[in-house]
Amino acid sequence: MIDEKGILFVLSGPSGVGKGTVRERLFEVEEQLKYSISATTRNKRPGEVHGSDYYFKTHNEFEKMIENDELLEHAKYVDNYYGTPKDYVQSELDAGNDVFLEIEVQGALQVKENFSEGVFIFLFPPSLEELKKRIVNRGTESEELVQNRLNEAQKEIEMMHNYDYVVVNDNVDYAVQKIKSIIVSEHCKRERIEKQYNNIIKDDDFNVRTIN
Ligand code: 5GP
Repeated sequence: MIDEKGILFVLSGPSGVGKGTVRERLFEVEEQLKYSISATTRNKRPGEVHGSDYYFKTHNEFEKMIENDELLEHAKYVDNYYGTPKDYVQSELDAGNDVFLEIEVQGALQVKENFSEGVFIFLFPPSLEELKKRIVNRGTESEELVQNRLNEAQKEIEMMHNYDYVVVNDNVDYAVQKIKSIIVSEHCKRERIEKQYNNIIKDDDFNVRTIN
């Protein structure tokens, strides 16, 4: 038996691309995957549950988490903090479980710096026109705010070269299918399997006298 550690998968991409929807659908079909619940200072939306959607924190509490080095990454997004608690990720990976993060681009780049063995998936809009439409239709914001979000999305798309995979989100089910395939492929990677084997296989295993 290969003593396998879990793999950290990071789904990211520009705002408005549909990361949340894809992640929710993925978790309906991938029950063994562990979702890392983020901490945030943003207000709870109707129907959201503390400890299930997010850990809702005050600014003070969040800053304490940063000070105590409890976060794998954190970022400020639209005036609120978002971050990934480190302990959960590490303990699940150590237990051999795959962990899945769905976070914005700045955070994903921080994870990459500290955790280069993770798998980074960029969710790409079906077209720039479509992304623009989704951002513009999102709320009742001023033209200036919408323009800021569009500029932000452009910068986020320019970060694509930091990722291992690009999944075009033209259809949610197909995007989920592609992510499932990435998960399977990563578990079959020679480099990963070799690392585990090197730890457990001894020369003696191939000695005819040890066969019983
Ligand atoms: P929302 O407020 O709509 O739930 O999320 C806003 C954005 O924050 C989304 O792009 C989401 O992916 C991102 N996000 C959620 N959790 C985290 C986190 O722990 N870290 C970072 N960097 N971004 C996050």
